[in-house]
Amino acid sequence: MYDETCVFCREIANKGNAAFVYGNSNILAFMDNAPIEEGHVLVIPRNHYENIYDVDKDIYLELQLAVKRIAIAIRETLKTDGLNIGQNNGRVANQMVMHYHVHIIPRYYRKKINWERETARIDDLEIIATRIRAGIKEVEL
Ligand SMILES: [Zn+2]
Repeated sequence: MYDETCVFCREIANKGNAAFVYGNSNILAFMDNAPIEEGHVLVIPRNHYENIYDVDKDIYLELQLAVKRIAIAIRETLKTDGLNIGQNNGRVANQMVMHYHVHIIPRYYRKKINWERETARIDDLEIIATRIRAGIKEVEL
């Protein structure tokens, strides 16, 4: 359930090297370090599953509820006009990290997504993460 070669297992789940917005014993959510929009969050299982095909069913369901909670918090705290929620399976589908993850991407009227994906400063990510964390506490499902 831990893969040393996996950047999410090693850097996120093990070392905690991210700006986290949510976490419990099964699920972690953190700011994407190369966001395609400000507030771009990734939600992952703490244990290593590669994709939709092998992720544990109960973990999957718990993760989807976390996605819903975080999506509501992002809408409220960042005042988004919309959200994209995406999840890629396999290299041909643009899965870059082979550890199951769900993207939550804020969208704004007339603002195009930045596909250049420049690496953000951790301090800037932490500022947004702090806002989203506060919002998550307010969300009741
Ligand atoms: Zn992993």
